[in-house]
Amino acid sequence: MVLGTLADRLVAEGYAQLWICYTDYNGRLAGRSIPRSRFAHVAERGTNFAKANFNFTILDQQVPDPRFTADTGDVLAIPDPEAVYPLPFHPASALSFALLHEEDGSLWAGCPRAALQRATAALADAGLSALVGLEPEFYLFTDEALTPATQAGMYTIAGLDAQAVFIEQLTQHLVEMDIPLEQIGKEYGPGQYEATVSPADPVTAVDRYLLFRLTVRSVARAHGLLASFMPKPDAALAGCGLHVHLSLRDLATGADRTSDPDHPSGLSTEARAFLAGWLAHAEALTGLGAPTANSAKRLQPASWAPAHICWGIGNRAALVRVPGLGTRARLEFRSGDNTCNPYLYVAGLIWAGLDGLQRGLDPGPPVEADVGRLPASELAARDIRFLPRSTEAALDALAEDTALATGLGPLLHQEFLRVKRAELASYGLQVTPWERAAYFEAP
Ligand code: GLU
Ligand code: MG
Repeated sequence: MVLGTLADRLVAEGYAQLWICYTDYNGRLAGRSIPRSRFAHVAERGTNFAKANFNFTILDQQVPDPRFTADTGDVLAIPDPEAVYPLPFHPASALSFALLHEEDGSLWAGCPRAALQRATAALADAGLSALVGLEPEFYLFTDEALTPATQAGMYTIAGLDAQAVFIEQLTQHLVEMDIPLEQIGKEYGPGQYEATVSPADPVTAVDRYLLFRLTVRSVARAHGLLASFMPKPDAALAGCGLHVHLSLRDLATGADRTSDPDHPSGLSTEARAFLAGWLAHAEALTGLGAPTANSAKRLQPASWAPAHICWGIGNRAALVRVPGLGTRARLEFRSGDNTCNPYLYVAGLIWAGLDGLQRGLDPGPPVEADVGRLPASELAARDIRFLPRSTEAALDALAEDTALATGLGPLLHQEFLRVKRAELASYGLQVTPWERAAYFEAP
């Protein structure tokens, strides 16, 4: 973008609207559209939202015991001038990611994006930076009856061919937004696709992921398709994960600090300690990354999604996979899904990794088996634990995790849990077709 103030730049580039966005604790992009006449005002002062908005579930139900109510005031969403993107599918509009401020100008302790900035700064204090790549999976359906947009098989070119118009439009829009797509492919499930955006610093990676998701939905709609990032849209369908890839870099030189060809694992001491931190906080990270009623249904043994706490080299059944060694070396955490708040999730991964570094933890040897298919006796012999078997258990683990509570800060930790627990309680009161089929005439 040309130099000058944010408002000048937006006017010079012909935008009529600026969408100012933040994420709520459900991971939804929220915000307002601001007309050109107000650009200068909002660039400086932001636009206000009620703190109460952060105590609503994804069904827009206020939690029963809110901390933020009608009388607890506002936050100001001030656009980050470094995070302004064109919206090629709405060409008169640009989208900006905001940071949430108190009325006195200080950052609000409840801002998810600022929480990720804080985690990144703590990593910098340890002399490190992280390159983060997010890998979302999603379905394309032709209707709400979940008719797959194609029956083409996994990784087939037929799967690309069937949705080539969608893929070309999506790719084109991402180019126009300067979001470097690495690949898009046909995943395992019918109508399921997967994409990776090139790694970037943590906040940029999450900003780009949110734009990717918005663009997928918009392009799908324009082509008469429905895109779903739901973890498990149907019990019979493969789940949709949001795998997080992370490599450590030297803050000063940018040199790789992830790999060590001289260690049998191929990983540096720091990467092994960081990885061990992920394993030590695996349950709580699953509460943060897979926090909804639907999430736990994806994390089943032998499903390609992880169900056990272990790590492996090139092992897709493990919670943490090291996808490659040498210059490709990075760590991949696999239990999260697209219903998380991605800023909080990646912040949690950084805090957990830092805890591993600070305590000098060791992850033990990699697991070489398809853990989802090992008998219980073998899992016990190898001391491999299950991930939390329910979302309730995962959220309880997050509640008890002091390193994550301290890293995220008490406000975010408590309010994220409050919202997700209220949502889960509402789900728990539902009566489903499965229950009627099982119990209507029974016993
Ligand atoms: N769909 C699987 C998941 O839910 C992941 C498949 C893969 O890309 O390895 O995590
Ligand atoms: Mg995949």
